[in-house]
Amino acid sequence: PSTLYVVATPIGNAGDITLRALNVLAIADAVACEDTRNTAQLLHRYGLHKELVAAHEHNEREAAEKLIARLQAGQRIALVSDAGTPAVSDPGARIVDAVRAAGLRVMPLPGASAAVSALSASGLVGDRFLFAGFLPAKAKQRESALLELKDVAATLVFYEAPHRIVDTVDALCATLQGERQVVFARELTKLFEEVHRCRLSEARAWLDADPNRQKGEFVVLVEGAAPASEEDDAEAERILAILLAECP
Ligand code: SAM
Repeated sequence: PSTLYVVATPIGNAGDITLRALNVLAIADAVACEDTRNTAQLLHRYGLHKELVAAHEHNEREAAEKLIARLQAGQRIALVSDAGTPAVSDPGARIVDAVRAAGLRVMPLPGASAAVSALSASGLVGDRFLFAGFLPAKAKQRESALLELKDVAATLVFYEAPHRIVDTVDALCATLQGERQVVFARELTKLFEEVHRCRLSEARAWLDADPNRQKGEFVVLVEGAAPASEEDDAEAERILAILLAECP
């Protein structure tokens, strides 16, 4: 008892729920969720009926207080978001933070996450990646966010909405080199799942070739920046030698 379980739920295919998640949802005294209608449907699919408590980005602080009181009274609470792992580009982090600060136990129940699923099927380097979530909607801010990531050697992972995918690809082409590999992981675990890999310079043509390619939910992955070449290293050493010669 007195535990907040952070429970991952499917990102499309209802089969992607773990046995442990189902057990915890079954024993929980209440389920805190982003959208009660959405979670009611999810629970109904697995034959579960639970008290649902709304805990979305607009009421996270008040929700946290109420949940803490229930946890202090010895209850078990499950925290879910609409899809995938709570607190990953989804509400949940503030509640977890408040529950921890109150000295109560928080347990993660691992499961689906669009970012990790996309990475696993991308063929891009997966031992180092930078999860960048959603890029800013405004062009200027998006560009500066991308410029900050320009030299990162790790694979870059972005979430994107269908109505912004074209703008995002244009911004990626403008700020990163066109020769990098890009992977579009679209509608993962769903009927129209597609994982497409090409060079950044070819990405816009691929998206434009079929309007269906701009629909659905996307994870966009971009190959990390190439390591500094030997020529760059030699140049750096040359400059260092000049600077050292100038030092008293
Ligand atoms: N918490 C979720 C997770 O663990 O992945 C992410 C939620 S975030 C609000 C929604 C974004 O995740 C979508 O815009 C898309 O970028 C990505 N996403 C979610 N489901 C997806 C799927 N089935 N296929 C591809 N991307 C998906």
